[in-house]
Amino acid sequence: MAMSGTSGSIEVVCGPMFSGKTEELIRRLKRAQIARQKVQIFKPAIDNRYHDTEVVSHSSLSISAMPVNTSIEILQKVFDSTRVVGIDEVQFFDDNISLVVEKLARRGIRVILSGLDQDFMGKPFGPMANLLAIADQVDKIQAICTVCGAAASKTFRKNPKHTEQVLVGETDLYEARCRAHADFFGEDDDQLAFFVNFNESRSKTQNL
Ligand code: ADP
Ligand code: MG
Repeated sequence: MAMSGTSGSIEVVCGPMFSGKTEELIRRLKRAQIARQKVQIFKPAIDNRYHDTEVVSHSSLSISAMPVNTSIEILQKVFDSTRVVGIDEVQFFDDNISLVVEKLARRGIRVILSGLDQDFMGKPFGPMANLLAIADQVDKIQAICTVCGAAASKTFRKNPKHTEQVLVGETDLYEARCRAHADFFGEDDDQLAFFVNFNESRSKTQNL
């Protein structure tokens, strides 16, 4: 487990909705506070499901947080004395978030990020693919599938009519699902079928 020292670090806690990402983020941040390290917590202002100035888990743990609209704002708001920066729902930030967290880590700060690795279609969510690549430590955690009780890595959107990537909601809109019960409307199968057919017809032409 990465601990704070003189050099900074980037930790990412990822997984589907309800997997305990926020609980884990709060656990790490509260331990840092017990160690008397100066901690600052940020969240995207778009996510005001529970509270404007608190990060709250589905199990009602909470910690106070500063809402921000852009990733650059985080850089502007971190004090020189801060040792640990936590960011919840990091998938909602713009692409500059990778540069921002790299800069904070270079300043010797321990950066702890929590966010959805995949969107409701099972694709990398916003800047998450980059963040996972540049992290020193990644913990991918699972929820419980609402259909069968197996370990769940996917977030299932109950109403497929909504196709936008960002649609803030809760159990009204989303469920944790295992791979078998997260049918992303057959899109991957269609794409794969296209490439199989394409390659088959290409090899036929090449053989002529
Ligand atoms: P996340 O930030 O990943 O959405 P939270 O940390 O807010 O998750 O909440 C995790 C908590 O959600 C669990 O400890 C549990 O009490 C509750 N929970 C509700 N639905 C589920 C589920 N399907 N699988 C696992 N935990 C669930
Ligand atoms: Mg959360």
